[in-house]
Amino acid sequence: MLKYRKDLSAMPSYDGVERDYAIKVNANECNFNLPPLVEERVLSRLSRLAFNRYPNEQYDDLREQIARNFSVDIEQILIGSGSSEIIEKVFYAFGGSARHRIVFPQPSFSMYKIYAKAAEAQTVVFELDENFDLDVDRYIRTVRDSEAHLAVVCNPNNPTGNGLTVDQIEEIAKNIDCAFLLDEAYVEFYGHSAVNLVRKYPHLIVARTFSKAYGLAGARVGYMIANRDVTRMIEKTFMPYHMNSLSLATADIVYQMRDEFVPRIQMMIAERKRMSEQLKTLDGVNVYSSETNFVLMKYARADELARKLEEQDIGVRFFVGNPRLENCLRISMGRREENDVWFSAIKKFVGEAEA
Ligand SMILES: *Cc1c(COP(=O)(O)O)cnc(C)c1O
Repeated sequence: MLKYRKDLSAMPSYDGVERDYAIKVNANECNFNLPPLVEERVLSRLSRLAFNRYPNEQYDDLREQIARNFSVDIEQILIGSGSSEIIEKVFYAFGGSARHRIVFPQPSFSMYKIYAKAAEAQTVVFELDENFDLDVDRYIRTVRDSEAHLAVVCNPNNPTGNGLTVDQIEEIAKNIDCAFLLDEAYVEFYGHSAVNLVRKYPHLIVARTFSKAYGLAGARVGYMIANRDVTRMIEKTFMPYHMNSLSLATADIVYQMRDEFVPRIQMMIAERKRMSEQLKTLDGVNVYSSETNFVLMKYARADELARKLEEQDIGVRFFVGNPRLENCLRISMGRREENDVWFSAIKKFVGEAEA
């Protein structure tokens, strides 16, 4: 018997099933590769990369660029291997004991509970309303009453798609005094970031990613923006040189050329609106309003439908074992033609089922 650390066997695994589908709309990825102009610049940059050197220069170049965009100091930015690593380190930094409580909403990003467990912190699950709205006053009360060390909000929320206003985020920030992690993985599709509140609220930490709107999921790059005292502490939790220079150089070009991504982000938003409207026309399908690049729908025979789609090599996200998301499917916006294909398949299934 190998003797692993305690609680490791009880640790849940990430519940996303990964497979290559003909139409892959299960992971909120971007279904376009880099814009050709950007790809060309990336490849040229990589061909000149000093592979023999540790990645100090690339790390600071990207931080500098992000800092400049938000008019903050370079020391207020940390880069992570995806925003996953950022979130993991923030949980680690404020966890570490069963007396340290971390509040996060449910249903939300399924990794929060895993990071909380890995951080050996106590989890305080905040249930969203029936229609998945976050009641700000009740959230504030929960954070205060539990004397939390860290409060987490995902805005707009994955997998429900809905968003809080910046005023609501400020209301939370104003009324809690523990660390406040705001996960803005989908904010580029929403357009209302709370990054500027970092200046006013030194306990606010904003996490962002290159994986969704910038289609760089494979490179694993995310970042956080916070007060300098906070970044100084979180930085201690990272290994030296935890980012590789290939990903950093790639993200640096992508960030420089982020205007090239605006048309596709706008197209994804238009597709989300178009597909939401189309799904709403189907009998028995409930569509939740979304500010992201995906749509959450509820349908009584969702598991059968998901299986039917799978048979047609269409991958959507189905949530097994989460009672709050029973009969829900999350579908990311692919290319227009792809969206037409999965919609036809759903329409056919629903039409036959309801006939
Ligand atoms: C996708 C996602 C992330 C992290 O993605 P990375 O690829 O690790 O940057 C973080 N939070 C939410 C809510 C997400 O959906």
